[in-house]
Amino acid sequence: MATLFDNHGRKLSYLRMAVTDRCNLRCFYCMPEEGIRYLPKKDLLTNQEILRLVGILSGFGISKVRLTGGEPFVRPDIMPLIRSLVEIPGIRDVHLTTNGVLTAPHIAELSKLNIAGVNLSLDTLDRDRFRAITHRDEFQNVMRTLHALLESSIPVKINAVVMDGKNTDEIISLVELGRNNPVDIRFIEEMPFNGEGSHYNRLEWTHVRILDHIRAHYPGLAKIHDPEFATASGYRVPGFAGTLGVIAAFSRTFCGTCNRIRVTAQGTLKTCLYDAGVLDVRALLRQSADDALVSDRLLQAFLSRPKDGFEAEASRQSNPVSESMSTIGG
Ligand code: SAM
Ligand code: SF4
Repeated sequence: MATLFDNHGRKLSYLRMAVTDRCNLRCFYCMPEEGIRYLPKKDLLTNQEILRLVGILSGFGISKVRLTGGEPFVRPDIMPLIRSLVEIPGIRDVHLTTNGVLTAPHIAELSKLNIAGVNLSLDTLDRDRFRAITHRDEFQNVMRTLHALLESSIPVKINAVVMDGKNTDEIISLVELGRNNPVDIRFIEEMPFNGEGSHYNRLEWTHVRILDHIRAHYPGLAKIHDPEFATASGYRVPGFAGTLGVIAAFSRTFCGTCNRIRVTAQGTLKTCLYDAGVLDVRALLRQSADDALVSDRLLQAFLSRPKDGFEAEASRQSNPVSESMSTIGG
């Protein structure tokens, strides 16, 4: 298997693929309440195009793929896509990130397909607050998915965005989910990808503050070994079945080992979450049936990666970070 390194010597092995920009929730930190202007369906990559792209990337040594969005399960042909993805030689791990609204009925099959993990987004354990954050009354469906996942053999992570004034009083209740359940609860710094631009002057709840808050409740909190390329810094409360992690997504402390590339819902390659998109892969796939040409253009982009998220953000010039995370996939 080939191994691909970028221009800073970082190994690239992980693709995050946004399979749609559409979503059945309106989390305020991701999308305006009135939604975003969705792409015409013809502008989304087809299953065939995604599979071709992943096939090419697997030849470069990409072995882990995460399907995200938008909400992957609002894409009508998501299950056929997953069934084919797990068959691609070289793709060892297929993961999903989902809001859980439509996911529960698919969990038995996902388990049979040996999905390597599901990240479920859950910022609150309170139904009214869930509705206030997401502008939809879907909390019970999400909890149904959580329970079905915990009963399955699929490894589960919970993604909780920490929002100043909205859910910080629930950080400890979310940590408590790990007391008896083997879940990894990850607290993510809020980023300005909400379809409108930043709504805060400075981030109050940084990874440092989140961790201090948790440690104040659990003085025995112990650091655990983080897997290679992890973005979360992991911890365990002694006696808990699960673990927790804090992701410095806004502070960007993990860029030095970043192994990931992203393809947005419109088929644009991003070699950093904070760049504005570096290659129109959709156009390339549609213009040329020649995989060698596509590979060549991808390689050029991998060898021009910004050093970190700050350099990538600075390179956007007059185009500040404000797009919706639902087009990027997180
Ligand atoms: N719809 C799916 C979901 O919510 O899990 C997948 C797409 S969503 C964009 C992927 C992840 O990005 C979710 O865990 C979500 O909480 C996170 N996210 C979205 N907007 C964010 C923001 N502004 N800051 C931090 N995380 C964000
Ligand atoms: Fe939808 Fe996920 Fe964005 Fe929430 S975070 S609006 S669930 S894409």
